[in-house]
Amino acid sequence: MVALAANDDIESILALVKDPEISVLSIADLGIIRRIEEGEDGRVVVVITPTYSGCPATEVIEADIADMLKLHGITDFEIRSEISPAWTTDWITSEGRRKLEEYGIAPPAGKGKAALLGHEEVACPQCKSANTEQVSEFGSTACKAQYRCLDCLEPFDYFKCV
Ligand SMILES: [Zn+2]
Repeated sequence: MVALAANDDIESILALVKDPEISVLSIADLGIIRRIEEGEDGRVVVVITPTYSGCPATEVIEADIADMLKLHGITDFEIRSEISPAWTTDWITSEGRRKLEEYGIAPPAGKGKAALLGHEEVACPQCKSANTEQVSEFGSTACKAQYRCLDCLEPFDYFKCV
């Protein structure tokens, strides 16, 4: 009998799975891996909470997780989706936020902060200026909005807060 891979191993394997839409982010950076469990029959159970419901990326992510596990010799597994509590951009790790900014995408403002201000304060990922304006509600994907910095004049994508 093959020994079950430790949860830590599974975690590092899952950290290799990239978000299909923003390839600089792993699904771990996005915070969508809720937990790793051992099923009754000894199989690995990966519990994920999909990002934006209805986001077409979800199916791709599940398939990518399956491929990555198989690639590492783990064949007895199950991927379960848990939709409650719903994923929120607050679950994106600080590492994930840093990567987004480096990539030129403004990371989502915290929900609490946005509620306090009554709007989302979006800082320019290039020059950090808060003097920005929304150009379009939709950016390169439905999850993003298009913004422009009024100081350095650079257009950029903003990862919408949910
Ligand atoms: Zn700027």
